Amino acid sequence: MSPLDPSRTVAELKELRELTGDEDGAQRVAWTDTWVQAQEWMAEKLKGTGAEMTFDEARNQWWTLRGRSEKELLIGGHLDSVPNGGWLDGALNVVAGSEVFRRIAEEGEPPVTVRLVSWADEEGARFGRSLFGSSAAAGSMNDHDELRELTDRDGISLPDAIGAHGVELGRATEAGEQLAKAAAYLELHIEQGPVLESMDLPLGAVLGTYGVERHRVTWRGQAAHAGSTPMDQRRDALAGAAKLALELREIAARTGEGAVCTSGGVVCFPGIVTSVVETAEQLLDQRHLNAASLAALLEDAKACCGRFAEEERIDVEFERIWNIEPILFDDELIQLADASIQEVAGQSHRLPSGPLHDAAEVSRAGIPTVMVFVQSLRGLSHTKLEDTKEEHLELSVEALDRLASKTIAWLAS
Ligand SMILES: [Zn+2]
Repeated sequence: MSPLDPSRTVAELKELRELTGDEDGAQRVAWTDTWVQAQEWMAEKLKGTGAEMTFDEARNQWWTLRGRSEKELLIGGHLDSVPNGGWLDGALNVVAGSEVFRRIAEEGEPPVTVRLVSWADEEGARFGRSLFGSSAAAGSMNDHDELRELTDRDGISLPDAIGAHGVELGRATEAGEQLAKAAAYLELHIEQGPVLESMDLPLGAVLGTYGVERHRVTWRGQAAHAGSTPMDQRRDALAGAAKLALELREIAARTGEGAVCTSGGVVCFPGIVTSVVETAEQLLDQRHLNAASLAALLEDAKACCGRFAEEERIDVEFERIWNIEPILFDDELIQLADASIQEVAGQSHRLPSGPLHDAAEVSRAGIPTVMVFVQSLRGLSHTKLEDTKEEHLELSVEALDRLASKTIAWLAS
């Protein structure tokens, strides 16, 4: 009989929910006592494995099982949640990872060193800065000045809050040493979207995380009286925004599969019922897994906006709010993930991730990375309604276990 017990993962996740949640959902917000309680609970669960447990300079929590080689396989997730969050986001990765870790430990010294990591403050729920621990380790935390200024709702600064947990902002990036021998990184996560459920598939292999282009598109026309200005003499800023909002469907279709574009809002000035709109500020979010396609999406949007501005005799201006390049996971590991999923579920599907994850940071640091998604019911997450069928949770533990075995064999070969 296999020492892997996927039903134990489900039982432990329920135990963690009891311990750190209430009637509104999970309350494991990073840098709070409840979060620390979750970390201590996890440490207790892994005591029997003989693995060494440590915290690094960013308060990422590590368990290490020394192998015959110094090369390291990392399995990761995050125990922190948003306020009133779901029971699975992040926690599934760590708890399932601990089950796989236990199985490997029971078999004796592994061919390579195996480490489980629970990243600190993935969600950024308290200070609005996500991926704290993983970006510190990956070397991409270069916003120390901004981090120093962040405060929570009660006016407590980020340096004070993390200081209460033994973390010094200026030293957080020393966590980078933890990745020095990392040869592969695996992360299981709930999908947090509707794709796998709509295909009736329990599991999928993740290709990478979307690149994002976010802009504020400002349209400028002329305010004019709604009664006295004939229709053909208006310079209506909202007309440009309206045309773009509808054109986004065509822009996405022209770029092809996987493109998503959203106009998340338009604010109009003067914004009164008796005036033509003079200024319309429109929010635009465009995403693609392929960098060239993402650039094409933006180019297309700009060209269309130029045309609409001419048609409406108004001006248009693009201002970038934020962007990030697509992060592609490792081809070899994607194949291993696919094979593992096929073995336990009969069929796999490859899909991109809309949300960013700690895995994106690790991948950015140049470490071969892959994620496995398990179906989310109704695509819901960051709410207490977040859920996944227990049979699918158990399949996900099995898939992660097989993926870990295949990756160890790959690293040892
Ligand atoms: Zn998460």
